[in-house]
Amino acid sequence: ETQFRVRITPTGPAGPRGQRALMLHFTDVTHLREAEEMRRDFVANVSHELRTPLTAVLGFIETLRGPAKDDTAARERFLGIMEAEARRMNRLVSDLLSLSRVEAQERQRPSTEVDLKAVLEGVIAALKPTAEDRGNALALETLPPDPGLIHARVAEGYRLKGDRDQLMQVFLNLTENALKYGGAGKPVTLRLGWREGSGNLKGPVLSVEVIDRGEGIDPLHLPRLTERFYRVDTHRSRAMGGTGLGLAIVKHIVNRHRGRLRIDSRPGQGSVFTVLLPPE
Ligand code: ADP
Repeated sequence: ETQFRVRITPTGPAGPRGQRALMLHFTDVTHLREAEEMRRDFVANVSHELRTPLTAVLGFIETLRGPAKDDTAARERFLGIMEAEARRMNRLVSDLLSLSRVEAQERQRPSTEVDLKAVLEGVIAALKPTAEDRGNALALETLPPDPGLIHARVAEGYRLKGDRDQLMQVFLNLTENALKYGGAGKPVTLRLGWREGSGNLKGPVLSVEVIDRGEGIDPLHLPRLTERFYRVDTHRSRAMGGTGLGLAIVKHIVNRHRGRLRIDSRPGQGSVFTVLLPPE
């Protein structure tokens, strides 16, 4: 629903009895109102997400001081839970800081030369132990460039102007999700290549597909998936240690690189998260 702010100012010369014509200025403030509303929702969400673990920690402190005072076995168990809850708060705060940092930088295009293949190899090395624990094969494939795609950049390997740490964050988040939601024992593949850009991405673009063969995502959820705290199944995401901010961070970093994130998914068959990045 469109909302206007109205300002009234007198205009023209005064009439014989001092009367003035009035001018009405209408300003469309729909976007402002929406932004305000989003900020309010965000603050409410953050408070809720922090309060849940905090309430648990406070509850266990009370139990440890009272009924479980002399119960060593219970004490160990409760301390374990308190530690897990504190770690959850820590993850949430780190993700919130990352999000506000990338949001603040969104207009400022990063300019260092980054080797994307090396970034993806770093992601694979970092997540290899997790993948092995879950029995997921994790591999990087490189595709030959699209036929006819001739450009100096393409001949140089897989390089672009970017922010290395942030790109690492993008592919860590996507690959962690593919491992988390991709089903135990199912392979996860990162596929890197050059593609002809389309739409507002002109010329050759680097393309990375993060492919899993897990449960997939109902198309109903796709448009909202990159919103902060949006989850298909909140309970499940929490149980897996998720904060609900991973894809929001991904989206902002990809925007900062003037790239595009595409999500294709078939329920029951798996998902493909594609990141397209212009080289400059
Ligand atoms: P979370 O911390 O909950 O993983 P994200 O922002 O990374 O938060 O992801 C948002 C939601 O998108 C997840 O809770 C999950 O429901 C869904 N999701 C993300 N990646 C996948 C995937 N590869 N397969 C299925 N669902 C996914």
